[in-house]
Amino acid sequence: MHVKKGDMVQVITGKCKGQTGKIAAVSLKEGKVIVEGVNISTKHLKPRQQNTAGSLVKVESPLYSSKVMLVCPECNSATRVGKAVDGSGVKKRKCKKCGNLF
Ligand SMILES: [Zn+2]
Repeated sequence: MHVKKGDMVQVITGKCKGQTGKIAAVSLKEGKVIVEGVNISTKHLKPRQQNTAGSLVKVESPLYSSKVMLVCPECNSATRVGKAVDGSGVKKRKCKKCGNLF
């Protein structure tokens, strides 16, 4: 998986193409991610008790991780990244456009 929770990503294909958001959750088993505010579907909840109305709830549906690209915080665009290690030995990603480590 090239992304993790909290990463900013852009959707590169499908009906949500071009939308950006933060990764809210990752499912390694399914190879899918949930991106905040992207791929929203509406769920209809039935009334559970008497005198309680049913409601519509908007939830993000998971996307395949291959449909999203990391967004570099420095040049603010969807980018390919390489692996890099910073001065203190922490593993980071390196933006192939601007060279920023993040
Ligand atoms: Zn960059």
